Amino acid sequence: MTFQALGLIDPIQRTLETLGYKQPTPVQKQAIPVVLAGRDLMAAAQTGTGKTAGFALPILQRLTMDGVTAPKAVRCLVLVPTRELAEQVYESFRSYGGNLPLKSAVAYGGVPIEPQITKLRKGLDVLVATPGRLIDLHDQGAISFAMLQTLVLDEADRMLDLGFERDLDILLAALPKQRQTLLFSATFSDEIRKLAGGMLKDPVSIQVSASNTATKTVKQWLIPTDKRRKPELLLHLLKKLNWGQVLVFVKTRKGVEALVKTLQEHGISADSIHGDKTQPARLRALARFKNAEVQLLVATDVAARGLDIEALPQVVNFDLPTVAEDYIHRIGRTGRASMEGEAVSLVCADEVDMLKAIETLTRQVIHRIEEPGFEADHRVPETGPKGAAAAAAKKAAAEAPAKKKRPFTGPAGGKAAGGSATASGKPGNVATGGKAAVTARPAGGDASLGTWTPPAPSGKPAGGARSAGAKPGSSRTYGGGGKPAAPKGAVVVTGGRGAKSLARAAGKATAKPGGRKTGPR
Ligand code: AMP
Repeated sequence: MTFQALGLIDPIQRTLETLGYKQPTPVQKQAIPVVLAGRDLMAAAQTGTGKTAGFALPILQRLTMDGVTAPKAVRCLVLVPTRELAEQVYESFRSYGGNLPLKSAVAYGGVPIEPQITKLRKGLDVLVATPGRLIDLHDQGAISFAMLQTLVLDEADRMLDLGFERDLDILLAALPKQRQTLLFSATFSDEIRKLAGGMLKDPVSIQVSASNTATKTVKQWLIPTDKRRKPELLLHLLKKLNWGQVLVFVKTRKGVEALVKTLQEHGISADSIHGDKTQPARLRALARFKNAEVQLLVATDVAARGLDIEALPQVVNFDLPTVAEDYIHRIGRTGRASMEGEAVSLVCADEVDMLKAIETLTRQVIHRIEEPGFEADHRVPETGPKGAAAAAAKKAAAEAPAKKKRPFTGPAGGKAAGGSATASGKPGNVATGGKAAVTARPAGGDASLGTWTPPAPSGKPAGGARSAGAKPGSSRTYGGGGKPAAPKGAVVVTGGRGAKSLARAAGKATAKPGGRKTGPR
């Protein structure tokens, strides 16, 4: 299928040609005709699927075909949870609309509001905004919603996770009822369905892949180790596997800073983006990483969704995320647009429940590979079929003592992929062979990194030159040959909400308790 067949106009097709987009991705194939037809849409699509073009292209076309804006008015509003995502989506609109006579802008907190007010004065066709700043602009009378045609909620699940429910209520009450609404979310939780129920009219529902299936192009594996050994292990892997640029995820801001310090002390260039940093500093850090001026970018989860880094091959989960879905978003930073990617998790005994939750959600058992010299003193309990078999047997004995026990047969026997996937009762859809993944690489056996080749793009040596022909240090060179030319300093990424937004959320009597609302990210 071509973009032409989807009914996109010439100027957009020319832009796509320039961008090198040869054919629509599955989400684009499904979403573009629906949006062009003016229907409401509820789409389960995770980042990396091309979802942004899935809504931006048809919206730009509709805006071009019908009417013009007026002072202070916006015709399309795209709500996003983080500043980083706001910048990214805005850039996409600018790029896709390069041949169109439309005006777009971006607005988020943490930066002066005046330039945003100035941009709104003459009116805009598209405004990409975070909810808190949008409410401030509205409160100040800087924006009118009277001409709003289309509302997009991008990464709606993330908005709820971050506690933006109250802000969304305020905004929805101020928007015209007659409008087109598109909701994109990585997952369709009950909360998302409830939110959709209140704002969408007779929506078309699309789902590009199982919402909880980790990006298929990303090879995933984990190394069990002790918590205190993780920094040393990361340094060891960087050297041993000759990694180039790596995006590292750490649970807390403090942890991020501590890791960056350790890396820098060992001569590794790294930088950080976190809630204590100003937005310009965060963008600068991201730019340094994108330009390969630093080798490591250390981030917390909030920033994960807004990062679109071309051809990033390596993600490391230094800590596992406390919310299992964040694992999918983290590894979605690599393997984008069908490129090969690798995600490695350093897992300690404390994190076994998080590991189980991730394996349940993604319906897979993550390859477990011991690294000699870094074996855990505090053993990380098995989560694979062995662990599941024991748990299943225990459960069966407790629940139905009279029932005849059946031996665990693994995925081939028609059961769920190993680990806690069985607990969910959801069969099949195995991303990696559960039983095989574990039994083929027994912990402490020949599964060590010394003898097993970690997943690498075909035809290229593991840990070796991933882009041997590319210039080291260039922005597209990742993991190439020798050490990347990168200065000292490391990048840490976090996002965050403004104080006003948090106050609004706190004012909500029914505010749900949620881990991420409380701690710094
Ligand atoms: P998204 O899921 O919207 O964050 O997009 C992920 C990446 O895929 C972005 O870098 C886009 O530029 C790229 N992309 C989107 N659509 C296409 C397409 N049809 N062909 C090639 N790349 C695409």
